[in-house]
Amino acid sequence: MGSYFFILDIPIADGVVSNYSVLETAHFYQNPKISLSDIALKVFYVVPTNQKNSVVKDWRAMLKPVLDDAVRFHRVQFRGRSRLTYTVYPEVVYLNEDTNFYDGLSTNRGNPEGLKKIFEEIEHRVFKNNGDLFRAGFSEVSPGAFRALAFVYEGVGASGTDGALIVSRAFLSRAEYALIRSSLFYHEFGHVLGFPDRYDLDTNQPFSEDIMGSGRRQSIEITYIDRDLLKGVGVIR
Ligand SMILES: [Zn+2]
Repeated sequence: MGSYFFILDIPIADGVVSNYSVLETAHFYQNPKISLSDIALKVFYVVPTNQKNSVVKDWRAMLKPVLDDAVRFHRVQFRGRSRLTYTVYPEVVYLNEDTNFYDGLSTNRGNPEGLKKIFEEIEHRVFKNNGDLFRAGFSEVSPGAFRALAFVYEGVGASGTDGALIVSRAFLSRAEYALIRSSLFYHEFGHVLGFPDRYDLDTNQPFSEDIMGSGRRQSIEITYIDRDLLKGVGVIR
């Protein structure tokens, strides 16, 4: 990395513009008006009232490898044109309601209904000055940064939408998902940045091998973000 930036410092002839001197920053998928130069991911372990006994004791240690994988994968795939940093809310967030409230009638397609309800609750309790979980240092996002929320849910789900994702705690802790948990997490994070699914939601048939298609079920070490998607966020032409 050091030598890379050293190259930028080499003086170039008058009137000559180095390819390296005009690095563009990434933007939201198909929306250049929303910069992804800096992404501030705020992460929560959220637990419905009836799931208190299921809380994972060492939950911080459970989150860290998955979040660190996301940061690394993002840096490489976005060619350094978008910086992802994360902050974990320091305590378990005990939600106001029980599982039935968040899950509603159906948790099909990854529990998007739960994501919506948890998003609204966290928005009020954590990010409003008068919220019972408000913490000035945590809630702030530096000017110009893109705020993203991730909810690790003590329940079912894996879903992402503009700016927020939900993922079941089971995906992060259970041995059967150990090899693919980081890919599952980043797949949902991809939706947070606007990426569409690249598999058929009804038949599960993938139309891409990247992380938004069949790659979501492979190790993050060997998957990638497809060129078409990278074009859509301004990383490549
Ligand atoms: Zn998806």
